Amino acid sequence: MTNIGVIGSGAMGSGIAQVAATAGHTVFLYDNNPSALERAKSSLGKIMARLVEKGRLTPKASQEIQGRIHYTDSLYQIEAPGLVIEAIVEDLMVKRNVFEQLESIVPHDCILATNTSSLSVAAIAAACKTPERVLGIHFFNPAPLMKLVEIIPAVQTGEHELHKAKALIDSWGKTTVVAKDTPGFIVNRVARPFYGEALRILDEGLADAATIDWAMTTLGKFKMGPFTLMDYIGNDINYTVTETVFQSFYYDPRYKPSFTQKRLSEAGYLGRKTGRGYYDYR
Ligand code: NAD
Repeated sequence: MTNIGVIGSGAMGSGIAQVAATAGHTVFLYDNNPSALERAKSSLGKIMARLVEKGRLTPKASQEIQGRIHYTDSLYQIEAPGLVIEAIVEDLMVKRNVFEQLESIVPHDCILATNTSSLSVAAIAAACKTPERVLGIHFFNPAPLMKLVEIIPAVQTGEHELHKAKALIDSWGKTTVVAKDTPGFIVNRVARPFYGEALRILDEGLADAATIDWAMTTLGKFKMGPFTLMDYIGNDINYTVTETVFQSFYYDPRYKPSFTQKRLSEAGYLGRKTGRGYYDYR
């Protein structure tokens, strides 16, 4: 079983680490913020305890999964990975820096993947000397529960690397779909109007967030309303993705971001993760 490196231990990275460890891999979970690593470790402990309580996992299996994840604040401690998945902040320059560093650390045949929601995979791959080993592997939140994973080859990605990565993610019990390297890929592009129109309805004063969410869940039969979902994803992430998609489609007004969300994000009202967003979770 190949070792897996995961970069970033936030909402996505910690979930991806859990998925890979559950599939039997030794995982190195790296974050440059030690308190994020502690949060990830304690949150995984709670998730595992709940699974044991519900009878979905034996105590032994839970211990083994947790034992397979190594938490580190040094990139150099990721041991001989066959695949590294990056899930850090949605910022092209920061991601490019990490990929550039990674290339000098990992084995020459290690596949490098980004979990970006909206950035150009080609632009990330271009930071590497061997861009043919770079591709997008886009998990959805929460990674352990969401079956779908988008696999995004950049123009530089090699066929062999694409098939190897896809086969590995398929072997983790996920359903993969290969998507083109365009802003938002498939799901995040389709989802833009869902959030955007909800925000316009709110901004025009036609209904409040709770009413819109209620209408979409009770009448529309969606699992979550748009505001509950944005608070779950994180308003910082959701706003940045909208902004990137808007810019990338040459400022097509269909994707125009909302000032309401921008202000929430600037105020640190990021949703569940900070206790406050469209709703108050404190
Ligand atoms: P998050 O804010 O929860 O976590 C990001 C983590 O990365 C933090 O722990 C932070 O300390 C760490 N980090 C930041 N810069 C770093 C660096 N240079 N080196 C090492 N660690 C660094 O973010 P998230 O919600 O997990 O999103 C991560 C990525 O996944 C983003 O690209 C996002 O677009 C994508 N994504 C997010 C969701 C979602 O619903 N939140 C879904 C799919 C994809």
